[in-house]
Amino acid sequence: MTADSVAMLDVRGLRKVYQGRGRSVEAVRDLTFTVGPGELVCIVGPSGAGKTTLLKCIAGLLDSTGGAVVLEGERVTGPPPGMAVVFQEYGRSLFPWMTVRQNVELPLKEKRVPRARRQVLVREALEAVGLAEAQDAHPWQLSGGMQQRVAIARAVAYEPHLLLMDEPFAAVDAQTRADLEDLVRSLWRRLGVTVLFVTHDIDESVYLGQRVIVLSDSPTVVLEEVAIDLPDERDQLTTRSLPRFAQLRGQVYELVQQAKSGHRPASPAPTGAGH
Ligand code: ADP
Repeated sequence: MTADSVAMLDVRGLRKVYQGRGRSVEAVRDLTFTVGPGELVCIVGPSGAGKTTLLKCIAGLLDSTGGAVVLEGERVTGPPPGMAVVFQEYGRSLFPWMTVRQNVELPLKEKRVPRARRQVLVREALEAVGLAEAQDAHPWQLSGGMQQRVAIARAVAYEPHLLLMDEPFAAVDAQTRADLEDLVRSLWRRLGVTVLFVTHDIDESVYLGQRVIVLSDSPTVVLEEVAIDLPDERDQLTTRSLPRFAQLRGQVYELVQQAKSGHRPASPAPTGAGH
């Protein structure tokens, strides 16, 4: 992102302390990063690094203790209208009594999109994920990978400015996962939507992202950002066999290992809003 462009997402000095029965857990200490309009950024970090906490704060589902999340210049204080989220648990994110088409259409009804426009958006989104034929099926009649495609179609039909993806492919088999990764890249390139993709899979983060943000162990700060200077045209076989892919993968792997062993950045990350 260039210095003079306006951030789509601006996370400034985000801090989250969970308060429990008589004890508190500082999950996120100080997270500062930006995502520019149209970027595809991946966040990786070891398990327990605060990825879910960060995503919930960005999605307006959890109040932060300090700092701020700013989406398109507006501070996030509840679920923002310009955002859609694809969760890992596709099985629980779709309504089983509704057809595929009805599931994709539901958020558009809530957004009060007129009927004719809804029909166009639903059809285009289902075509984009290769599910035009399955529109009258119910989610439980579909495979896991197809259900996750429905969830992606639902997010895309909503025309979000920011698409948040929380380990969306963790529960599908390897081949389906590769197909879904390519689907995300092609939708991102076609639609120009900004994507923030959270994963604990290092290869996936390098394959998908233009940038990878590596989180430290909890209490979380940004350990390092790695620019992924691979060609924009990516495919599973060619891209993953590039020497540069192996180098970047090695670099991110090393950082995640450091994070696991408790390594923190040498100088404290700059804080945005005070806390
Ligand atoms: P990740 O998604 O990277 O695995 P989480 O955001 O789930 O990490 O967790 C970060 C830290 O915050 C962990 O130490 C976890 O135990 C703690 N944590 C998460 N949710 C809660 C909660 N509701 N109450 C107390 N501690 C929590």
